[in-house]
Amino acid sequence: MGYATLGVAGGVVARFLPTSASCFVCLNEHWKDKQHIPEPRVDDVGVVIPVGCNAPTFTGGGFDLQEISLEMVRTAVGLLSEGNYDPGDWDVAILALKGDRDARMLPQWEAFQCPPHPKCCGAARRSSGSPHMCYG
Ligand SMILES: [Zn+2]
Repeated sequence: MGYATLGVAGGVVARFLPTSASCFVCLNEHWKDKQHIPEPRVDDVGVVIPVGCNAPTFTGGGFDLQEISLEMVRTAVGLLSEGNYDPGDWDVAILALKGDRDARMLPQWEAFQCPPHPKCCGAARRSSGSPHMCYG
């Protein structure tokens, strides 16, 4: 998964494999806890709702969005190249493009592991349960 946040203030690139110990729900639970993995920065200046659209979007530079796109490509190539391109050993990468007072900063990536969350994949497993059948 990968996306930029409002205002292209930051972004996320995360990967969850069938063999991963955690999942997308675990990541969201970690974000709710606000302890282990920080949420990417958001700058809601420039948010617009285009006519005919039911969701807000934002304006931002394509060159800023490319920071996220390129990491998504590196991650995908690493996963698909069977060892010919190092995919990295992290689960979640958080990008910051804006710092304090929403001032532009040099792109800064931070890498995190996403351990199984106690409310999801880290919960006591049922005898026949799969760690990725935890959405209900
Ligand atoms: Zn999970």
